[in-house]
Amino acid sequence: MGQATCPVTGAAGRPVATITLKALLRPDALATLEPAAQHYYCPDPGCETVYFGGPRLYDRADLEVPVLAKDAGEDVTACYCFGWTRDRLRAAGPAAVDEIRAHVAAGRCGCEVNNPKGSCCLGDVEQIVRAWRGRVHGGSVIAHGQEDALHDHQVRDEEEQALLDG
Ligand SMILES: [Zn+2]
Repeated sequence: MGQATCPVTGAAGRPVATITLKALLRPDALATLEPAAQHYYCPDPGCETVYFGGPRLYDRADLEVPVLAKDAGEDVTACYCFGWTRDRLRAAGPAAVDEIRAHVAAGRCGCEVNNPKGSCCLGDVEQIVRAWRGRVHGGSVIAHGQEDALHDHQVRDEEEQALLDG
């Protein structure tokens, strides 16, 4: 399975599907991909490495898109499927979260191939909107909400996958 901690910072990685790397790596980086390797996403904001676990590391510059967790820019995308940047989310507020959530519920999101994390953006989106509205920063309320949203979506993903496999 390869290592699950980032070799650069020691941060705990999250497993990502090979299709995520295939979708998001730039051509020259993709040309070096070992598709059989289990790759992991490094969530550490201070680490340039995005994916590890294969024969080589892939950094931010190896991806076609900016990585939300590693790029503080206001114009950086948070919801990769429907094109919501930090500044647009802050302008739209909770209505944006509702809209994205509705798309997710309708099965329209493609986080696996759009989001560098390879998983749902809802937790990030909620955190951006909430931090802006309530001036809540880094509290456990956000962390729990994020986990719940991610968990709900992961369960749906697993159910969809089971249907596909069956
Ligand atoms: Zn790292």
